[in-house]
Amino acid sequence: MEGELDVSTGQVDGTPVSAAERTALVERVLPLERGWQERANQSAMRIHNLGLVLKLVMEEESGISRAEIARSTGLTRSTASRLIQDLLGIGLVVEQQVLESGEPGRPATPITPAPGTYAGIGATVNLDYAAVRAIDLAGNVIFDHHEPGDFRNSDPVETLRRLGDRIAEAAETCTAAGATVVGACIGLPGLTDGRAAEPILRVAPNLGWRNIPIREYLGSRLPNSLRVTVDNDANLQAVAAAYKSPGSLRGISDFLYVSGDVGVGGALVLGGEVFRGNHGWAGELGHFLVDPNGPLCECGAHGCLEVFAGKFAVHTAAGLDPDAPAAELIAALQSGDARTLAAVASAGRALGVTLANAINLLDVTTVVFGTGIGRVATWVRPTVLEALENRLLSRGHIQIELLAAPDDNAPAATGAAHLALIGVLDAAVALHPGS
Ligand SMILES: [Zn+2]
Repeated sequence: MEGELDVSTGQVDGTPVSAAERTALVERVLPLERGWQERANQSAMRIHNLGLVLKLVMEEESGISRAEIARSTGLTRSTASRLIQDLLGIGLVVEQQVLESGEPGRPATPITPAPGTYAGIGATVNLDYAAVRAIDLAGNVIFDHHEPGDFRNSDPVETLRRLGDRIAEAAETCTAAGATVVGACIGLPGLTDGRAAEPILRVAPNLGWRNIPIREYLGSRLPNSLRVTVDNDANLQAVAAAYKSPGSLRGISDFLYVSGDVGVGGALVLGGEVFRGNHGWAGELGHFLVDPNGPLCECGAHGCLEVFAGKFAVHTAAGLDPDAPAAELIAALQSGDARTLAAVASAGRALGVTLANAINLLDVTTVVFGTGIGRVATWVRPTVLEALENRLLSRGHIQIELLAAPDDNAPAATGAAHLALIGVLDAAVALHPGS
């Protein structure tokens, strides 16, 4: 029987066919489908292996040889070499100068992430600044914009349109420099929903924003093809604290991250990945209960950590203007001002109680302080440790390490740019379909 089988009606060219005839027709089509399936499997395997090799190269920003890649992946040397050749061809990696290993045989050529070929754009709106940053695979900053401002209760349409304009500018700068932009990620201080087709900010209490369709508000200057995602800013800051360049860990892969400005945010990083929970809303340390009779928090509850350890609380207790720059607080601490020292010590106690609760639950031993809290880490450390000593069940058995995050004036933008690069392999393969 010839003709096209319509599987929904079981008819061929409008004529019903018997079950036996239908089976024969399906059998005729199957080998063709199996061929496609095999090709798809091979292609999926190749992409999988390319991803595996690229990940290794990104992890070792100082370079990794083909032999080391073969050893680490279990692939044969020739397969590893072929995959590296493919990655070189699509601009994801580069060869560095040959190293004299001192061993007999061919010296090893270190492979590193390619600079300047692909970039991720990270952006953030915080309460007192907005920032946009584009970073390439090697960690070089191609575009950097940092704009101080007061964004509390700002108009989200206006603020995000301006941010969108800067993102468009970043994309244009990357393109002019010869780099393909893989995507943009926006960090906001609140509950974000990046799983929906349209990235949405559910609520950012301190910005006073609710249910914001991010992509729409970023405006029309953004290229339609640009993939835009959204994430919580503390999650992104934690990424920046964990990674020195995209994919390359600084050395710690399991830690609790605490950011503290007006709002207090947090994130849990396990195995180098931010633990997100069911909705991406895990890690809200700022709204852990410290005192049920405490002051009202912007979130609507009383006595959250934020109202004891946030910038406003600390500045007010120190006798400073709540809006004063962090530098004023640091100057007062350095001069040994008793009231300021007491204010920061008190914030440290509230933070310590919160961290003890979190560590009792999670059993992590490293805490990284970022943004405002990071800058005063020296002064909060004693009372944090004291609270941990009093409240940790595991006290005496574990040593908690308290670290300050690397200095960065917009760590959420840095982390966002790193995450925006996650789809780089797909983007590169799509750009070079013949490779
Ligand atoms: Zn709260």
